[in-house]
Amino acid sequence: MVPRRAFINAFVQVSSTLMARRLFASSQAGDATGQRLTNWSGNLTYATGSVSYPRSVDDVVRLVKQHDRLKALGTRHCFNTIADSPDHLLSLRDMNHVIALDAQARTVTVEGGINYGQLCPRLEEKGFALHNLASLPHISVAGACTTATHGSGMKNGNLSTAVTGLEIVAADGTIVTLSKAKDEARLHAAVVGLGALGVITKVTLAVQPTFAMRQWVFEDQPLSQATAHFDEIMSAGYSVSLFTDWERERINEVWIKSRADGDVRKTLFDAKPATKNLHPIAELGAENCTEQLGVPGPWFERLPHFRMGFTPSSGKELQSEYFVPRQHAVDAILAIQRLGPRITPHLFISEIRAIDADALWMSPCYQQPSIALHFTWKQDWPAVSQLLPVIERELAPFKVRPHWGKLFTLAPAVLQSRYERLGAFRKLAAEFDPRGKFQNAFLSRTSDLPPSERSTETPSSFATDHDFYWCALH
Ligand SMILES: Cc1cc2nc3c(=O)[nH]c(=O)nc-3n(C[C@H](O)[C@H](O)[C@H](O)COP(=O)(O)OP(=O)(O)OC[C@H]3O[C@@H](n4cnc5c(N)ncnc54)[C@H](O)[C@@H]3O)c2cc1C
Repeated sequence: MVPRRAFINAFVQVSSTLMARRLFASSQAGDATGQRLTNWSGNLTYATGSVSYPRSVDDVVRLVKQHDRLKALGTRHCFNTIADSPDHLLSLRDMNHVIALDAQARTVTVEGGINYGQLCPRLEEKGFALHNLASLPHISVAGACTTATHGSGMKNGNLSTAVTGLEIVAADGTIVTLSKAKDEARLHAAVVGLGALGVITKVTLAVQPTFAMRQWVFEDQPLSQATAHFDEIMSAGYSVSLFTDWERERINEVWIKSRADGDVRKTLFDAKPATKNLHPIAELGAENCTEQLGVPGPWFERLPHFRMGFTPSSGKELQSEYFVPRQHAVDAILAIQRLGPRITPHLFISEIRAIDADALWMSPCYQQPSIALHFTWKQDWPAVSQLLPVIERELAPFKVRPHWGKLFTLAPAVLQSRYERLGAFRKLAAEFDPRGKFQNAFLSRTSDLPPSERSTETPSSFATDHDFYWCALH
C-alpha cells in the first residue's frame, strides 16, 4: 500500500505539472486560437474559447455593447460554473492597477482585475492594510467580493464588507457608480452581485493603518475540547482556523493569527504547540505556507495560509463550503463528525472558520454571525457528488447556505428560500441587465434570475464530461 504522504506528494507533483501546462496553454490562447480556458483547479473547462482581455473601461464598454451575452472572469478560482459563458468571456487580468489611495478617507480604489497578491504589497508600502484576507492572495478582488469570499475571525466580516464603492459597466454599456457615502443601501445590494449585475471595472476598499501579525499552530486537539470551548478557541486570535480530516475525533491543526499588538496565546488546552511550520495537510511540506512559530510579519504575509508565488492548497482538488449560523456551530461540527468515515477517504482536509454578520443581501453571512465548514476534496467528482447531498441533509436543520464559488448540490428552491432579499436582488439585476446579458445557467438555476433572451447553453466540460449543471445544482 502506498503511504498517505507519498500518495499526496505524487498527486500534487502530477497536478502541479498538469496545471503549469494548462496555465501556459491559457496564457498562449487569448482570442487568437479560441482555445478554451480552464478554471484554476482544472475541474472545469469553460464552454467557450472566445475570450477578450480589455485594458481600459472604454474597452469594457465597447465589448459589453458588442456581445449579446458574456461573463466577466477574475482569476478563475471558482470550482463551479458561476463564471462560465457559452458565448464570450471577458478576462480582466490586464486591468490590475491601483488607481488611488486616499489616506484621509482610508480607502483604496483598484481596477477590476487586480488580485490581492498585487494589491497588498502596494498598500503595505504606503502604510495601510486590509481588515482580512482569504486563505490565498492569488484571487481577484472583484471576483472574491462578488462571491462573498471570506477569511476567519469572530469579529471580521467577509472580504466583501471592505467594499465602499463600485464602478460597474451595465448591460447597455452605461457606467454605474455606487458608493457607501451616497447610496449605502444600493451598495449593500450590489456588492455580492454574483457577477450578475455587469462588469466591475473599479472597486474601492476600506483600509486601515498597517499592522504586524504572528501566527501559531497547535496540533492534535481532541474534538471534545474544541466543541466544549468552541467560542473561546475561535476567539483565541484575530483569525482562527481549525483543520481536521474528521478521522480521529480531533482537530489536526489550530492556526491562530494574532495581531502583534494583541494578546498572545501560549497554550490551547491539551493541544500541542507545533515545533515547525506546517501545511494544513500535515503530510505536505510547509514551503508554500505563510510563516508560523510566532515570527512577526506584515498582515498580508500572515492572514493567508498560502504564499503568493507558490501553489496554494493541494492543486488538483475540488472544494465545497457550507455556512451555518454561529449558534449552531457545535451541532453542525458534530453532525459532520458523524459522517467522518464516509468523508475522510475522499478528503484532503477540512477547515472551520468564523465570519461576522454583514448587511450584504446575497452574502451567506447576511445578518448572521456564521461558521463556515470547508472541504478540500480529492478531485473525484463522482464520489464527491454523492457525498454533498448527504452533508447538505445533515446541515439542513441549520438552514445551511453554500459558498457561491464552490461545489454544492442544494436544490435551487431550497437555496433560494435561504436568501430573504433574493426577490429584491432579482429586481436590481433586471435593472442593470434587463435582457440577461450577464446571466448563465448557474445563475438562472440557483437564483432564478431571468434567463438570457438567447438560450443556447452549451454545457462546459466538468471534470470527466459530467453534466455539471445537473449534477451540481440539482
Ligand atoms: C485554492 C483556493 C483557495 C480558496 N480559498 C478561499 C477562502 O479562503 N475563502 C473563500 O471564501 N473562498 C476561497 N476560495 C474561493 C474563491 O475565493 C472564490 O471562488 C472567488 O470567487 C475567486 O475569485 P476569482 O477572481 O478567481 O473569480 P472567478 O472564478 O474568475 O469568478 C467568480 C465570479 O466573479 C465574477 N467576476 C469576476 N470578476 C468580475 C468582474 N470584474 N466583474 C464582474 N464579475 C466578476 C465572475 O463572473 C463569477 O461570477 C478559494 C479558491 C481556491 C481555488
